[in-house]
Parts: sequence; C-alpha cells; structure tokens
Amino acid sequence: MSDKLDRAEAHVGKLMDDILSIFHPGMKITVLVRDPLHDDRDFMMTSDDPAQASRMIDRRIAAISSTSRGQAFDGAGEGLNEDFLTQLRRVNSERYDVWARQPVMLCEHCGRDRQSAEDAGHNFCAPPFASQEHLFTKSHPHLTVSNDAGIMFDALELGGEVGELLNVVKKLEREDRGWRGSRATPEDFADECADVLICLDKLARRRGVDLAAVTVRKFNATSDKVGLPHKLAALSSAKRGE
Ligand SMILES: [Mg+2]
Ligand SMILES: [Zn+2]
Repeated sequence: MSDKLDRAEAHVGKLMDDILSIFHPGMKITVLVRDPLHDDRDFMMTSDDPAQASRMIDRRIAAISSTSRGQAFDGAGEGLNEDFLTQLRRVNSERYDVWARQPVMLCEHCGRDRQSAEDAGHNFCAPPFASQEHLFTKSHPHLTVSNDAGIMFDALELGGEVGELLNVVKKLEREDRGWRGSRATPEDFADECADVLICLDKLARRRGVDLAAVTVRKFNATSDKVGLPHKLAALSSAKRGE
C-alpha cells in the first residue's frame, strides 16, 4: 500500500513540475484528490502554504457561486481572447461539472441531501437531531457516483427548450392578432433563444462537435451550394485557444 502511495507521489510530483513549467517562475501548485464516498480517503500534494491554498479554494468557491447571481465568472477574463461560442463551450462545461456531476450525498442522521436541506433553510438536522449538524456522508441509493444524466437528457432538454421558444412565438403572434389567451414578452423570446443555444452546445459537446467550427463550415457550404458569395470567416486556431 505504501509502495503504491510512493509511486503515486513520484508520478504526481512529476506532473506538478510539468504543469508549473507552463506558468511564471515562483508559482505554487496544489493537487487534491478526494473520494466522495469516503471522507477519510483523500490525497494532497502541495508546494504551497496550505493556508494560502485553502484561501484560494474559498475564492474559487465564491467566484463559482457568484455566477448564479449573474456576475462575471472568475474565468471570464480569459473570454476576452475567445470567440463567443468557444467561451460558451468552456464556461458551460465548467458549470455543468459543478451543477450535475457531483455525487448526491445524504445526511447520515436525517437522510436529507445537501440541496434540500439548504432549500428548506435547515442548517442543522431536523428534530430529534435539532442541535446536530448534518453529516453528508451517505451515498444516495440511486445517484451514488455521478449525477450526469447523459446525452439522452441533453437531447430532451434541447427539445424542451425549442418547445418553450415556439410557445413564446405563438403567444407573441397571438398578441399581434389581438386574440385571447396568455401573453409573452420580447424578453421571454430572447431568454428562450439563449436557452436553445446553451442546450444545443451541451448536446453537441457530447459527440465532440465544435459548434463554432461546424457552423462556419456548414454556413459556407450552403452559400457555395446556392451560388451566393456570403461567407463566415474561419476561426483561427490561435484565437480559439487550441
Ligand atoms: Mg427555457
Ligand atoms: Zn441531517
């Protein structure tokens, strides 16, 4: 066992050196490996002051949670050098990792999952455990390792969003004709257009499709086919960060 650990440390140490060589001299690196099903099984190697590394994790958590309040993502600075669809691809997948891929764990005492405890404002277990903190260490019986719902879910989600968009179009058309029924706003129309694009990229990613590149290719092929000169500029690979 310790032999295996020694080998892991040697291997990870080499990788850490390789990663650091990309950055400015003097940068610090920390590697954390966690077993979500066993809190006592984890692995950490760092060239940093652990207290500083801990502060950095707090900053990253704060930056990630700020996205849900519509503020700039902490990686948004990188977006200045990215075309829009590349940035969507990157941030969408980073968000998905946090949103859906984390295992669902239940409290050992009360059986609540973290989200439902937060939603209900229960920072502590419900009676008879009123003064006891939740202990989210029990794996969910159906959602143990990964909560990733897969390509079929993404396909259904895209279909759902297209339906929502068409429903808004119907309501706007209804209003234009002065017919009775529920209404939608121009903002609803814009929101649903955005949802369709976001879900389309999620689905495309499942099959490794680069939405920006294939859109350029397909748009230009159609122009060629119908004999029109209108072309999208090919994206340079440097600009796309590849
Ligand atoms: Mg929607
Ligand atoms: Zn509990």
